Amino acid sequence: MGMIRVALDVPLPRLFDYLADDVSIEDIGCRARVPFGTGEKIGVIVAIPAQSEQSADKLKPVTAILRDMLPLPAEWIALCEFCARYYQHPLGAVMSFALPPLLRRGKLPRRKALAPINANPPAVPLLLPEQATAVAAIGAGEGFETYLLHGVTGSGKTEVYLRAIEAQLARGRQALMLVPEIALTPQLEGRVAARFPGARIVSAHSGVADAARARAFLDALEGRADIVLGTRLAVFMPLPRLGLIVVDEEHDASFKQQDGLRYSARDVAVFRAKQMNVPIVLGSATPSLESFHHARSGRYRLLSLNQRAVAEAMPTVRTVDTRREKLQDGLSAALLEALGLRLARGEQSLVFLNRRGFAPVLACAACGWISRCCRCAANRVVHLADKRLRCHHCGLEAGIPHACPDCGNLDIQPFGRGTQRLEAALQERFPQARVLRIDRDSASTPTKWQALLQQIHAGEVDILIGTQMLAKGHDFPRLTLVGAVGADAALFAADFRAPERLFAQLMQVGGRSGRADLAGEVLIQTEYPDHPLYLALTDHDYLRFAIAQLAEREQAGFPPFAFQALLRAEAPHVEVALAFLQNAAAAAAPLLGDAVMLYDPVPMRMYRMNNLERAQLLVESSSRPALQQFLGRWSERLGGLKTPRTSRWHLDVDPIEL
Ligand code: ADP
Ligand code: ZN
Ligand code: ZN
Repeated sequence: MGMIRVALDVPLPRLFDYLADDVSIEDIGCRARVPFGTGEKIGVIVAIPAQSEQSADKLKPVTAILRDMLPLPAEWIALCEFCARYYQHPLGAVMSFALPPLLRRGKLPRRKALAPINANPPAVPLLLPEQATAVAAIGAGEGFETYLLHGVTGSGKTEVYLRAIEAQLARGRQALMLVPEIALTPQLEGRVAARFPGARIVSAHSGVADAARARAFLDALEGRADIVLGTRLAVFMPLPRLGLIVVDEEHDASFKQQDGLRYSARDVAVFRAKQMNVPIVLGSATPSLESFHHARSGRYRLLSLNQRAVAEAMPTVRTVDTRREKLQDGLSAALLEALGLRLARGEQSLVFLNRRGFAPVLACAACGWISRCCRCAANRVVHLADKRLRCHHCGLEAGIPHACPDCGNLDIQPFGRGTQRLEAALQERFPQARVLRIDRDSASTPTKWQALLQQIHAGEVDILIGTQMLAKGHDFPRLTLVGAVGADAALFAADFRAPERLFAQLMQVGGRSGRADLAGEVLIQTEYPDHPLYLALTDHDYLRFAIAQLAEREQAGFPPFAFQALLRAEAPHVEVALAFLQNAAAAAAPLLGDAVMLYDPVPMRMYRMNNLERAQLLVESSSRPALQQFLGRWSERLGGLKTPRTSRWHLDVDPIEL
């Protein structure tokens, strides 16, 4: 009688052995259906052990080994093992996440032939000098190397990716390309398909229906797919002929998953490139400070595109000093005038405000009542469009009261400004303009989003109002003005990454303007026109900003000069969460050594969410291996700590929000 060792999706960092007839090492990577508790589970066979650590009389026989698809390759298993180890997550849970839902449930999709999409000969532009240099550097890339492609907005980074992919296709290799957002995939898919008429392209993101997603996985696994495009979860697609990985907009926070397996797809992609010994290209107009730091230290190879490909020049960026001006609905005279000018010329404008809803809070001036959420440490936001007060954290909502719930005062007012209020104000000021608001409320599904994008491209919009959704990657040829309002709020935020994010956002959103033959202008309303962040922006000087930020981070001992992990706990009462963290800290003490430092447990900044109170404990080290070693040993002990039934905890390695 043989034996199989299976990774099952359970919240325990261990594997499970089962008895099985006629098994061989060929079965490693197959899925198996096994009895578990009173039911059954499906897992992946990760080993054929000679002996079990479980006592022989407790071993049960496997129900079935599913040999109806190619076994998952050893390197895929190794990739999952790396994630399990690095992110302190059970291997079975990692694999369950990495598999499409259908395959996870032991099923197979109905097969469909994967056909190349289009057969017209592609239009291939001549490379500009900087692009040519970058393409030559990447070459037909054999062997692991990380390239950081820093290219200003509109500099033609995509063309560089396409050339690098082309070189790999010519060698018979597969390419994996990751983008931050589902909405960007159709546009990109079209472009990639037009470029490689003979190539078989598949998409992998959460918007793909179950059957199609499983088919894409099998097409990749069985080597049929040539190019895989997708969001962060595509980093787990099995690719036996992998030749190249591209991560576009590598700085984007959406590459880091914020629940369950808290992985960074960009970092996992770099690990994977190294594991498979293939090149990886990380591209951005505003590289993450982590990646930029590696480029400066020589670990990554920096490739720069400083010229725009089509547009004559970068947009003119100016700050509008709002300190001495009485704003009208939050808008300065300069911005209003610039908007009027675009309207007269028949060009598009975009007003960027990274706050959705009508107003962030409803308040009563008579008694001080404000629209707090009773479940969260946050205010409910006024949504006038559907007449609701809504919490953006837990979703709790109610109608907008006509009078103060506490004192009955009829004069209750919305305070502050969100995209809906801006939309109303602009529509009132420019009654002839076609105004369109784009945020997570108006673009709540990928289909709605696509419809809105279509409207913009068809020239049916004069003034766009949008959150950061609009900042990423989209190309609007008739857009010549970008105004940013309310940006100052992020300048003094408590999170040390806030300036990096603000700079990237403003650079990205500003980069939407003047991308074709029309000159672009960016106006940033601020009360701090001399702030170094804005000065670097007006000079288009990412390098100056990044170098200054890195110096500050080094002085403060923040990442990328330190490595961090957070232990977070939540419970109905914060005392319980803090008590758990105190116990966790006590369990850590004997494991710490000199290289790892533990901070005191503290309530989180947003200390209550959805009726759970939250606290966290920061662990830090200047050595990644030391931190990793500590986390491995610590998380074993954490599993053994007593936790009240009502509380939960998790580890977040390389957290991006503190
Ligand atoms: P980025 O991703 O760097 O912001 P894109 O890759 O979207 O820029 O390119 C911006 C525009 O420039 C696109 O319309 C693209 O087709 C065009 N473009 C890129 N490279 C060239 C080139 N070598 N010759 C002509 N047009 C180019
Ligand atoms: Zn009141
Ligand atoms: Zn809430």
